Amino acid sequence: MTATHEIVNPSTEEVIATVPSLGEEETREAIARAVEGFRRWRRVAPGERAKILRAFGSAVAEANEELAQLEVRNSGHTISNARWEAGNVADVISYFSGSVERLSGRQIPVAGGVDITFKEPVGVVGIIVPWNFPMPIASWGFAPALAAGCSVVLKPAELTPLTVMRVAEIGYEAGVPRDVFQVLTGAGSVVGEAIVRDPRVAKIVFTGSTKVGIGIQKLAAEQVKPVTLELGGKSANVVFADADLEKAAATAPYSVFDNAGQDCCARSRLLVQESVYDSFLALFEEAVGKVRVEDPALDSAEMGPLISALQRERVAGYVDESAVLFRGNCPAGRGYWYPPTVIQAKDRSDRALKEEIFGPVVVVQTFRDEEEAVALANDSVYGLSGSIWTSNLGRGLRVARAIESGNLSVNSHSSVRYWTPFGGYKMSGLGRELGPDATDAFCEVKNVFISTDD
Ligand code: NAD
Repeated sequence: MTATHEIVNPSTEEVIATVPSLGEEETREAIARAVEGFRRWRRVAPGERAKILRAFGSAVAEANEELAQLEVRNSGHTISNARWEAGNVADVISYFSGSVERLSGRQIPVAGGVDITFKEPVGVVGIIVPWNFPMPIASWGFAPALAAGCSVVLKPAELTPLTVMRVAEIGYEAGVPRDVFQVLTGAGSVVGEAIVRDPRVAKIVFTGSTKVGIGIQKLAAEQVKPVTLELGGKSANVVFADADLEKAAATAPYSVFDNAGQDCCARSRLLVQESVYDSFLALFEEAVGKVRVEDPALDSAEMGPLISALQRERVAGYVDESAVLFRGNCPAGRGYWYPPTVIQAKDRSDRALKEEIFGPVVVVQTFRDEEEAVALANDSVYGLSGSIWTSNLGRGLRVARAIESGNLSVNSHSSVRYWTPFGGYKMSGLGRELGPDATDAFCEVKNVFISTDD
């Protein structure tokens, strides 16, 4: 009999569901089905595959409220965020449904014949997803993979499988064959590792911690298996003295405390130019005090609980009380609550500055000039995201070009857009997801020369 594990609502600590914990053998059986699914799915005419994915996208859009409510219960996300996340899944599927008929190769001039390239689906794709954005991150992998003609085995995080399980059911109702898209619940060390090790799985898309990502890259290397890695971050929010300080301060809390800081793009380092440090921090303190941390099911909620008791313990372990500058509020009682917290960096080697905390904690540093701002922003093994606040357009662009990071925004904390590429520099990852080229990551390019000689 298949083992199971319980799913807990992080706002109430109540058990809300029980899901299977698959074993290695069950994972291998699912991969065998995915091999069969791939054989048929790649042959489905592009127009037909696109039609199925369009229907899938529309059905997810119709289920927006159901999926959003489910995410509030499973992940403690605020209802407004959860509606955006479910909407993002619908948009991502619809967007990549448009790439099916556009997966064209090229014709390259050669002597004595014709040279053409084909984009061919790589095969079975293994997608491993973390708990912080269970729905969107799953779709950034499975939508372009299905569009390319691949089949998918997807492993959600142990804590948060419910929404993507429901998304898959919606897909089946829309016409996606069951063996083409399977959700395999269970432990990372069992199901996840079995997926990575299996030679029938042609490619791995992993989003999660840098530590686990490194292990996956090593394992995949044994088979020269391609990997896309979306890993940790320690992004900087850089505020120059010439910025619109009121706007920069009013938005800064949401750039790090959104999703209770459990966001790989969280701007968890706040770099403020020395000359405006006091005035900026006064505005920032006021803004942090206004963040509504409450029952995430309420429309007014801006931040919910952390995902688990363990995560709250980890986050608290980074906070030296003597370094706390100020805090926001959070509910007491049941639920894994932690208040928005602002701390001062002790020095450049401060652990809170170096490591990804993955909770509602931001570390403040000061800088003298542009050169130091860039040096501090780049003083990290990570390079995923970041923001630059300045009224000087030239400086905005200069600094954006100088920061070693995959996704930057000037005078904004722009979130991910499904039609622009997303991914990290350095230890934040390998490869890009989303945007116009994402389907290519699920294709091999085949070159064919046809002689025109008699
Ligand atoms: P995690 O690395 O612990 O787990 C991620 C997934 O990998 C889970 O499904 C887990 O079960 C699985 N896993 C664990 N061990 C495995 C193994 N040995 N083999 C195969 N799979 C295994 O990460 P998490 O705690 O779920 O998520 C938080 C992390 O994810 C943070 O570091 C965050 O920055 C990162 N993240 C990155 C991005 C990005 O796009 N760069 C986005 C979201 C989250």
